Amino acid sequence: MMETQTYIHLEETYGAHNYRPLDVVIERGEGVWVYDVEGNKYLDCLSAYSALNQGHCHPRIVNVLIRQAQKLSLTSRAFRNDQLGLFYKALADLTGYSMILPMNSGTEAVETALKAARKWGYTVKGVPADQAEIIVCEGNFHGRTIAIVGFSTEEQYRNGFGPYPAGFKVIPYGDVRALREAITPNTVAFLVEPIQGEAGVIVPPVGYLKAARDLCTAHNVLFMADEIQTGLGRTGKKFACDHEDVRPDVTIVGKALSGGLYPVSAVLSTPAILGVFRPGDHGSTFGGNPLGVAVAREALAVLIEENLIENAATLGEYFQERLVEVPSPHVKEVRGKGLLIGVELYPSAGGARRFCEALKDRHILCKETHQHVIRFAPPLIITRTEIDQALEPITEVLNMR
Ligand code: PLP
Repeated sequence: MMETQTYIHLEETYGAHNYRPLDVVIERGEGVWVYDVEGNKYLDCLSAYSALNQGHCHPRIVNVLIRQAQKLSLTSRAFRNDQLGLFYKALADLTGYSMILPMNSGTEAVETALKAARKWGYTVKGVPADQAEIIVCEGNFHGRTIAIVGFSTEEQYRNGFGPYPAGFKVIPYGDVRALREAITPNTVAFLVEPIQGEAGVIVPPVGYLKAARDLCTAHNVLFMADEIQTGLGRTGKKFACDHEDVRPDVTIVGKALSGGLYPVSAVLSTPAILGVFRPGDHGSTFGGNPLGVAVAREALAVLIEENLIENAATLGEYFQERLVEVPSPHVKEVRGKGLLIGVELYPSAGGARRFCEALKDRHILCKETHQHVIRFAPPLIITRTEIDQALEPITEVLNMR
């Protein structure tokens, strides 16, 4: 058996240094638990940024993955396969959206939605050629392509990667008036996260999404929700927009769509919008591949049949209440919805990273998001007992000097 340090050395020697992971080398996962190469057991409170809503290596999803991998993995979209239509139907039945475009990563699905919005703007709304505007929010995180980081407000995400595509306008998050003032006749879409995960679990004011939806409707602007992190049960509803009964024109999903076993993302909408794509307009070799979509269909079935959305609502509320009660000189605020919880620390705490390191030493895996926020987002299969067990080490760490 190789030592932890040997694995780390290999990664650091040959890998690009675009991440700064906690130094735990995981070799096995099961449910809410992961095990490192030395046999230590940890509670996963990140869930691969919410991709593991169904837990690690869910047996049902693993079985489907193995069976499908032995039968057919990839056709490309040059040919049809017997899994794609079934996946569309399952996702349409679950979400009520009548047209779906499958991709792989979340980033690709966001790019797809941006392209759809622009083409819709030109061919349906009647925006003059190359004049389409898309409105996004400060603090957004939608992925890492050049177009997407081009409208990021995070200096590190942008710096050194320009020039960027034009046609994006950035407004403050949670500010309806700013949206009203930003809309012009050339606005084709408003792209928004119903809760900003990467910005530090920022929950907008109550009524914001509803008011933004109404403004978009009034001005014939597409309301596009990025539910890649918040969707599929994470916040205690199917989608975070459901908390305000808001129905986006376009919903973007990824991450937990495949239960963390395979990259599968999708743009959900209607023929009036996604119908703008003609054969050859857009595509992806792996998008909609039979292996990925078979896995995704099972991951969706698990989400529903194991009542994970309800569990996220109940236990999310419980976890948040318990966290609020933790006495700590460092905690400024506990916030979030369902099992997407952010604990913001005062600047005097010296940054969230050292708290995450200390939690790791006590066998709880979390990651700091932005400088001062610890995110708690365990798999949605977590139990009350497991949360109770975690509270002791969390309390200890939140009282470090
Ligand atoms: N959008 C949101 C809201 C996300 O949280 C993420 C990933 O964290 C993405 C898009 C990008 O997804 P991916 O990393 O799968 O490309």
